[in-house]
Amino acid sequence: MNEHERKIHKLCQELIPVFDELDAETQEIINEHVQYCSICDNMLDKWDFLNESVGSTEINVGNDFEIKPLKKLIHINRGLRLLVILVRVLVLFVISFNTLRFHESGDALALQTFQSATFLFYLPAAIFLLVFTWMFLNKKWFLYSLVVDLVILMATWQFQLFY
Ligand SMILES: [Zn+2]
Repeated sequence: MNEHERKIHKLCQELIPVFDELDAETQEIINEHVQYCSICDNMLDKWDFLNESVGSTEINVGNDFEIKPLKKLIHINRGLRLLVILVRVLVLFVISFNTLRFHESGDALALQTFQSATFLFYLPAAIFLLVFTWMFLNKKWFLYSLVVDLVILMATWQFQLFY
């Protein structure tokens, strides 16, 4: 980073929290800068993310009083994203583990157990998590989750066709 870029970086750091209030030309400069600066890119991502999930009216970040709860919110959101992933992994792990425990040889019955367990436990968990994601996380995450769930359920359902 040369001296000129360093200066722009410093300005971006100051301006990204109030991105919404900047004029188009300034926003353009920031957008150009984030192409090669991962620190600002990350910061802008978080700003985008917060804006989507909370709504722009509440994000007039101008003073310390508002910034502190926002930082906390970023933290909580990260935790929630991790949580929705972990719950899915855990449900799939328990289903697989139980299937393997009761059927040591990979027979058709094991597959059936796995399939019914997936639809009995994973499907309701996924639906709950999707509703949760829709309400508390941003829509991009809802879409990712939906695709992952559909792929998992479709893959499980496809297995059936082989037998
Ligand atoms: Zn930067």
